[in-house]
Amino acid sequence: MKFESYIRDIQDFPKEGILFKDITPLLNDPVARKECLSILLASLNGQVIDKVIGAESRGFFFGMLLAQELNAGFVPVRKPKKLPYTTISASYDLEYGTDTLEIHTDAIKKGDRVLIHDDVLATGGTAKALGELVKELGGEIVQFNFLMELSFLNGRDKIAENPIFAAITY
Ligand code: 5GP
Repeated sequence: MKFESYIRDIQDFPKEGILFKDITPLLNDPVARKECLSILLASLNGQVIDKVIGAESRGFFFGMLLAQELNAGFVPVRKPKKLPYTTISASYDLEYGTDTLEIHTDAIKKGDRVLIHDDVLATGGTAKALGELVKELGGEIVQFNFLMELSFLNGRDKIAENPIFAAITY
């Protein structure tokens, strides 16, 4: 079975009018998970990666698996006040208000080749902020990589200057 069928639609989550793509069935199945991981890895065409950045919290799952397979470091990017060491932050707009993400200042060295991973590319706000954090620390973005792209939200326009890969496009 294709791994796509392990992503289920949840209507009206987290609020009315939103069709949420739930990846927990995919996480729960080792065969589907491996298939998905292979597709993400193949998209890199053997390029060397020093660090994989994963966004809290659903970017942690495949982000860590990717880092392990690529023999790269894994760097968690988190919501404010979660990371214990010195951080820098980037903010992005939400429908109402703003949100902020933080990264440890020593997590990426100048010139590191970075893979940025998250589960979903929706409006692109999160991805744009992730890219800003990597660039501020001197990292070189090799690719933005997602399990899913919700293409009707045009999120890729916000990170258009970078290579972008999504295992599934809706
Ligand atoms: P964006 O900033 O691109 O609008 O939203 C992307 C972020 O929101 C990702 O970190 C992702 O985890 C979360 N997100 C938005 N929509 C969905 C969805 O339908 N399913 C899942 N699993 N995450 C979503």
